[in-house]
Parts: sequence; structure tokens; C-alpha cells
Amino acid sequence: MSEEGNEKREFRAEVCKVLHILTHSLYTNREIFLRELISNASDALDKVRFRVNRGELPRLPDLDLEIRITLDKDAKTLTISDTGLGMNAEELAENLGTIAKSGSEDFLASLAAENDRKAENPEETAAADAANIIGRFGIGCYSVFMVADKVEVISRPAFGEGEPKAHVWTSDGLGTFTVETTDSEEPERGTVIKVHLKDDALEFAEKYRVESIIRKHSAYVPFPVFVDGEQANTQPALWREPRASIKKEQYDSFYTHLTYDNKPPLDVEHISVDVPVQFTALLYIPDTERDFFGSERDYWGLDLYARRVLIQHNNKELLPEYLAFLRGLVDTEDLPLNISRETLQENVILRRINQVVTKQTLGHLEKMARDEKEKYNSFWRLHGKIFKLGYHDFVNRDRIASLLRFNSSALAEADDLTSLEDYMGRAPEAQKTFWFVTGPNREACRLNPHMELFRKKGVEVLYLFEPIDEFVMDGLGKYKEWEFRAVENAGPEALKDFEDKEKPEAAPPLSDEDSTSFDALMARMKEILGDKVTSVALSHRLADSPAVLVSPDGGMTASMEKLLKVMQKDDSIPVKILEVNRDHPLLRSMLKIYKADNKSRVLDEMTRSLFDSCLLVDGYLKDPQALAARQNEILTQAAAWYTEVCKI
Ligand code: ADP
Ligand code: MG
Repeated sequence: MSEEGNEKREFRAEVCKVLHILTHSLYTNREIFLRELISNASDALDKVRFRVNRGELPRLPDLDLEIRITLDKDAKTLTISDTGLGMNAEELAENLGTIAKSGSEDFLASLAAENDRKAENPEETAAADAANIIGRFGIGCYSVFMVADKVEVISRPAFGEGEPKAHVWTSDGLGTFTVETTDSEEPERGTVIKVHLKDDALEFAEKYRVESIIRKHSAYVPFPVFVDGEQANTQPALWREPRASIKKEQYDSFYTHLTYDNKPPLDVEHISVDVPVQFTALLYIPDTERDFFGSERDYWGLDLYARRVLIQHNNKELLPEYLAFLRGLVDTEDLPLNISRETLQENVILRRINQVVTKQTLGHLEKMARDEKEKYNSFWRLHGKIFKLGYHDFVNRDRIASLLRFNSSALAEADDLTSLEDYMGRAPEAQKTFWFVTGPNREACRLNPHMELFRKKGVEVLYLFEPIDEFVMDGLGKYKEWEFRAVENAGPEALKDFEDKEKPEAAPPLSDEDSTSFDALMARMKEILGDKVTSVALSHRLADSPAVLVSPDGGMTASMEKLLKVMQKDDSIPVKILEVNRDHPLLRSMLKIYKADNKSRVLDEMTRSLFDSCLLVDGYLKDPQALAARQNEILTQAAAWYTEVCKI
């Protein structure tokens, strides 16, 4: 960066994109620009306090750490200054001219998701507002261009050798900016941002308006904020107050300050611990879902304070990943104030806090599950997806298993939930297994042919809708001595101790001769299918379906197998046993056809089609054209026979 550099510099492409969106599509809630500027000023002050605590000496060490806003209606300006860290010329260009690429991409992805959500829930439009996600991805600064047609940022670094000059960054937010040296005396240390308000944004030069925005969005900023000389915020450290004295509204408004979420939290957990570490934590369970498997995968953690001084935002050592849904902070007496951010990793104290936070949170969730069932179910629907990952946590595995929720064949609605404990309570005496079936939704689970035996026996089956669920089952292994098993791995013996609950109309038994012919039919079917199947065998698990594919070793489930194949980019079709239902009308008809003509072409078509529909149920469809051709041929024949039989 050259000192005389008066030349215009271009914003990076992704900045332009973000700027364009901010200035063109976000008209509601423009006031949050002030929240972003104040939060940046507060961060800059935090950084000075942090370094002073480590023994560094800033310029003008006696200067108060504070934020001042001045308004000038005639000049149409709002000016905000802080005595914080400040920036040199290079930092001005870097911090205010680029966005970490991931930041802007994540913002755009999150914005798109938000818009989709709005389209699906039109009644939520007022609540869901893109402005809420601005601060999350390191683009808060640019929101000022929602209200400004020109912005000057004048800054003087707080640390460094000699007498640093101030530099001024100027832009109209359209595509270019400049950075120049300036003789300005202000600021002596830190940053002054002069916002030239657009004509339709002059409300932000009104003192009462600015004060009310600060009360609404920035009440808990830990430094005094003055508007035209008067302090506008209260800055209490809410988490240090005794629990009994805090009202729900205070918890809620602190949450809003912390997260910018416009829904109040689902629940709050206020922890105060003395041993084995001394700390206070204020933890919230949001009432909104976050996308930890997509755009927000890196945006979690708790704010870490040492004796009320902010050490780090979003510290990830304080929580296991499966509790990433928690928002809030931890304030400890046990960390030295002069700790460097680098040594926070692998820190013993943080690890102990992590353990306590985990135990307390599990306790909190257990209590909620016991005393406030509906609330717990809401928690599960919002955060169950990430919480499930807790099956990794060996130490707390049983507690986590007891907090898992599932849909199941015994429940009436798709969003009803059961715990493992409740499932055990409903199971017949002899049962010692959690049976599960995997499918994209309830209907698919219900129609899985492997379910038929379980329906007949009246044995409840857990429905797993997400691919990860099977890993969870696998990882848990057992719960209270009960095993987890997939219905498709139920051998012929598995349910033999259970009485039939439903007695389907039994097909007339086959004569000995027909029995022998049926064996021959199965051999013929194997011949037709060749090495697509290991064998064709009699099934004892089917009631309504004609056939099903079964793994020879009873090992992996079809869904797990498919997942692994996708991961390994293997598109081959697994070779399995084709089990057929001898009592099914289709097989009975096929038997007749076989007896009449054991080389019948119709039998050929039918066998292949039957096999295809089994593959379809398992999620494999490799040759749709051939399948469609076969279907059409059978349909054509069936239609011809129908017209003949009905004489039409
Ligand atoms: P974020 O705050 O999430 O990093 P912003 O867009 O709000 O993203 O700010 C970008 C960067 O600009 C900040 O990270 C910081 O380095 C710098 N910055 C902004 N405002 C100030 C300020 N008042 N004092 C010092 N640095 C600032
Ligand atoms: Mg910011």
C-alpha cells in the first residue's frame, strides 16, 4: 500500500455481490447497521483491553475505553468513534475491502436458505429477516451502505512504534474505495466512522431514534455508548447477577443482543460452578434451526470471558460439537487474564469447563424431557440432528441414548416421537431388541416388505429417516442390554417366540406335488436371473409382498450399503438372495404358468420385473429403460387378456 495512494481501488467481486444485496434488497430493519458498527467498535475495544491485560502498553493508556456517537441533522451525518484497536492503511484496505471468501459464500447460501424458508412459510415473513444473519459471516461493516451514500473511516492504531499517522478509507459503496493519509487529529487512538446518510435515512440523525436502537440492539455492549454526550446503554454483566433476581425478559433480551435471533430462546440454562473449576455460564437453546451440516458448519462455539473480559468469540473448546446448537458465554475466574489466544487450545481449564457444561446440559435436557415433554420434543425437532452426534461421546453415551427420539410404527403421526425407554415399555415380555427400519419417510418405512413380519407379530419398529441414524445405532451398540437391529437382518428365528397378532387369510396349503413344483419354479427363476442373485429362496417374513431381497450374511442393511457405495463411488448392484412369498397370488399364478410351460416367456418377464421392483424398494434403479420396456410389455399383455376375459 503506497502512502500517497489516492487511486481508486476496487472491491473484491464477492464484496460487490454482498453490497449489491445489502443496498438493493434489504429495506426492512435497516437500523441494524448501527448494531454492526457498535459491535465492531466494541470488538476493537475488547482487543485493546485484552492486550493491556497481557502487559502491552497502548498509545494514550489513560484514554477511557468507550464509544461515542454524534449526530448532525444539517450535515446529514452520524459519526461513531471508539478508542479501540484502530487500523493502519493496510488493515483498512484489507478489512474493509475484502471478505473472507468463505464468509460471503456462506452468507449468500444462508440468505438463499432463509428465502426458501420464507417462501415455504409465508406467515413467517415478518419474523424471518435476512438482517439477522448479516453479523454472522464477517460482513457486518458493509451493512452501513443500507443507509449511507458515502462513508469515511478514519483510524489510528493503538499499538505500534512511534507516532502513527491516521488514515482515511472512503467509499460510496458502489464498487471502489480509496485509502489516504490524513492530517486529522481525530481520532487520537482508535477509529472514527463518518456516515453520510441517504436522504431516505435521515431518521438515523435523530437522537431519540438512535437511542432507542441502542436500547433495542446494543443494550449489553460492555463499554459505555454515548449519544451526543449522554450514555445510552446500561452494560450490566447479566450472567454475574444472582439467578433469582433475573427476569425472563432480561434473559430474553440478552439473548437477542447475543444472537440477533428475532425469536426468543426455547430455553435458558444459567450455571454457576465452583469445583473443579470456577465459572459462570449463560447458555441458551435457540428456538430456530441452524444448518450445521451446510453453510453454518464453522459458526458455533461459546464466547469466553475471563473475569468479565472477553477473551474470544465462538470458542469451540468449551463444548463438544454435538452441543453446537447452544449459544451463550462462559466467564471464568480460573484463566489468567494475560492468556494468549494460541494457548487456549488444548487448555486444561477449558477442557474441564467443557466436561461440566456437557454434564449440566445433559441434566438440563433430561429434566426438560421429564417435566416439559412438548418443549423437549420441540428441542428435538430443531436440534436433534446435531445432538445425535453425541453417540460418539463414550463417557455420556447412556445418557445421550436416553435422550434420543424416534418416530415409530406404533405412533400415529409423522412428527410424533418416542424415547427408547417408552419403546421398551410397550414391547412384549420376551423382546430384548430395538428393531429399526430406514427410509426417507414414514410411508416408505411402512411399505418396506421386511416390516410385514413385524406387523403380523405386533412388534414395534423404530423409523429412521436420516442416513446418520444407522451410524448412531451402530455406534451405540446396546442400550440397557438391548441390542439395535435392522428389520431386514431378522433371521427366520428372530420373532418365533411372539404370537401372531394379525392372522392374514391363509392361502390354501400346497400339495406335496405342487411343493416340489414350486422348488423347481424357484430354480427356474434363479436360472432366469443368473448371477444377479445368489439364490432364490422361500421367505417366512412376507405377508403382503411377493418378494424381497435379503443379504446373504444378514450383515449390512440396504440403506447403509447404499450410503457406503455412494461414498466409494461404486455403482454396482449388490448380489443378494431373492426371497419369494409362496402364498402370494402372484407366485401361485406363476406356479401354474410354470407347470403348464416351464420355458414360458411370460414367466421370464415376470421374474425379471419382480426382481426389478425389489431393487427399486432398496433404492437401486440402474436401467430404467429396460424396466419400463418390461413393464409396458406386461401391461400390454394384461390389457389384452382383460379385454378378452371381460369380452369388451
Ligand atoms: P466482523 O466484525 O465479523 O469481523 P465486519 O464486516 O463487521 O466483520 O468488520 C470487518 C473487519 O473490519 C473487522 O474484523 C475488523 O478487523 C475491522 N473493523 C471494523 N470496524 C472496526 C473498528 N471500529 N475498529 C477496528 N477495526 C474495525
Ligand atoms: Mg462486525
